[in-house]
Amino acid sequence: MSGEKYPFGIKGLVGRGGLLSGGGGVGGMYVGDWRVFTPKIDYEKCTKCWLCVAYCPEAALSKGEEGPQLDPRFCKGCGVCANECPVKAIEMVRE
Ligand code: SF4
Ligand code: SF4
Repeated sequence: MSGEKYPFGIKGLVGRGGLLSGGGGVGGMYVGDWRVFTPKIDYEKCTKCWLCVAYCPEAALSKGEEGPQLDPRFCKGCGVCANECPVKAIEMVRE
């Protein structure tokens, strides 16, 4: 099984903040087409607590220099990240 051809493979989990690197979600499925709302991150407000990264059920968020980075291919727009952010730095906006 190839990590490139089959996104549920172990390579995807290791590389994208999945189980093996401490993220909250298993992820690995391209669920971006499900999305109606998308998270918009306010990096001025973000304190880099990484709760959103930990709680995202799809592992669509990863740690970045200025704050969480979104990979839209894996984001289904569920809003869990916005709900869990303690400083309300994430707003769900309609696409
Ligand atoms: S809306 Fe947030 S919690 Fe839900 S899949 Fe997208 S990034 Fe993850
Ligand atoms: S939960 Fe909010 S404050 Fe914490 S890293 Fe995510 S956006 Fe930043």
